[in-house]
Amino acid sequence: MARVFNWQIGRIMSYWYGETRPAKQFAAVFDLNKCIACQTCTLACKTTWTSGRGQEYMLWNNVESKPYGSYPLAYDSKILEMLGPQEWVGERYEGRTVFEAAPAGERLLGYRPESGDYSYPNIGEDEIFGTVDGGMSVEMPHPVWMFYLPRICNHCTYPACLAACPRGSIYKRPEDGIVLIDQKRCRGYRECVRACPYKKTFFNSRTGVSEKCIACFPLGEQDEQPRCFTQCIGKIRLRGWISVPEKANENNPIDYLVHVKKVALPLFPQLGLEPNVYYIPPIHVPNPFLNQLFGPLSEQAVQTYRNAHKNEPKLAALINLFGCTPKTVAAFKTKGNIVSALNDNGDTLVAVPVREPVAVRPAFDTQRGVPRMNVT
Ligand code: SF4
Ligand code: SF4
Repeated sequence: MARVFNWQIGRIMSYWYGETRPAKQFAAVFDLNKCIACQTCTLACKTTWTSGRGQEYMLWNNVESKPYGSYPLAYDSKILEMLGPQEWVGERYEGRTVFEAAPAGERLLGYRPESGDYSYPNIGEDEIFGTVDGGMSVEMPHPVWMFYLPRICNHCTYPACLAACPRGSIYKRPEDGIVLIDQKRCRGYRECVRACPYKKTFFNSRTGVSEKCIACFPLGEQDEQPRCFTQCIGKIRLRGWISVPEKANENNPIDYLVHVKKVALPLFPQLGLEPNVYYIPPIHVPNPFLNQLFGPLSEQAVQTYRNAHKNEPKLAALINLFGCTPKTVAAFKTKGNIVSALNDNGDTLVAVPVREPVAVRPAFDTQRGVPRMNVT
């Protein structure tokens, strides 16, 4: 086992291969405060990539309700339970990763879901946590909560699927860090399905090989964002590139959200894969739950996000850029009330107002002599 540095857990850890970072690393930020579970992303992906035979059950993009939803069934609680205690000391993870917890003779800790585990992709949808007393209709503050968690492959820096493949069929593209399965080399041993703790590789029983999210790389090669990003109704997604923390660039939107403001956090960093999809946590969810999902910086991230409009004009401006361009956003800049997204060459892709102008009409229409309401 090689020793590699995983900045998300603040320490060196064991991995099957040495540290080799791509020239640029695909990354994304999802703002969970805006997702409405419309599943447009799921359908955009389904109709683009997985509408064939043998792919019926596959959801490369899925959206699950937390705390009760999961696809496949209980994938998260199962691996967390197998992993055992997950202690953080400050920003350093002191527990074991899935690589360090590998049983004797195996490359990592994992399990293969049963086929029935894929039968209920929307289980737990909209189910709230906690109870409301009989007869109660409204109570403030609200005693119950839930939120939506959209998930794709994380195109991890230390992919478990890649480490586990006995055929060497899985690789990380050196130009953008996207993780792919070579369909000609794969023999369908399903070690990747067992290994990925996020359960984002899928076995196709028709073709006999495994498949996974490809981050719409043909679009990425034209500087376009993936389908599930551009179709997102809630405008919760932003695609870009991430640097290692010591090379963070304030003008790069992903670096700014992840490294500078630390408002976007990885999903289950304690597993040790250094996933590259980052989440702005929901602001209404109890901290212990967020800590388990996103690590020890959750509370700080929620506070920073909550106060963005008061204290963080640059952050508030950047949040407005989500979903405003189909192109990959390499940089951003603000000037006055305008925030602009830039491509790799520094060309402006789109410019939007930070604050939309608000017009309040008089409550009485003197021309027609009638009162009117200021609703749209
Ligand atoms: S999320 Fe899973 S399938 Fe995707 S790169 Fe990481 S380990 Fe592989
Ligand atoms: S399309 Fe966007 S808002 Fe709708 S479920 Fe997907 S991530 Fe959420």
